[in-house]
Amino acid sequence: MKDNTLCPCCSGNDYASCCLPILTDHALATTAELLMRSRYTAFVKQNTDHILRTWLAAKRPVSLNFDDHPVTWLGLVIHDTAQGGTKDNEGQVEFTATYIENGQLCSLKERSEFLKKDGLWYYDSGVCTVSTSKIERNSPCPCGSLKKFKKCCLNL
Ligand SMILES: [Zn+2]
Ligand SMILES: [Zn+2]
Repeated sequence: MKDNTLCPCCSGNDYASCCLPILTDHALATTAELLMRSRYTAFVKQNTDHILRTWLAAKRPVSLNFDDHPVTWLGLVIHDTAQGGTKDNEGQVEFTATYIENGQLCSLKERSEFLKKDGLWYYDSGVCTVSTSKIERNSPCPCGSLKKFKKCCLNL
């Protein structure tokens, strides 16, 4: 079982001192990586406001509907960052996000571009690849619930 106080972005820090403040104040994402982490957490928490407002206006989708694609998010790993610091105006973050969707274990790897406009970091775009693998119905659910997959996230 995951500790509920830990931040979903897998930083190892408490949610209350990690992504939660950024979800309420965009300006607290002082680096591209912090913005990336907060956006992942916003997907986990289905915080569409934060996802949309941190998306570069020119690339931003009109809306997001989580009901169409029920997903169980499993974790985030940051592989690499380039620039994206407090003094930079652009940066890249390479990461893998894993989740369960349609009964499959999915691993999304992306190198994202971030831009800073008027002192705020925004997600610009990214090139991603998704690999999927089957989860056996009777194996432990990858979400960490200790239940069998067929009794847990398979039935989303
Ligand atoms: Zn976090
Ligand atoms: Zn599960």
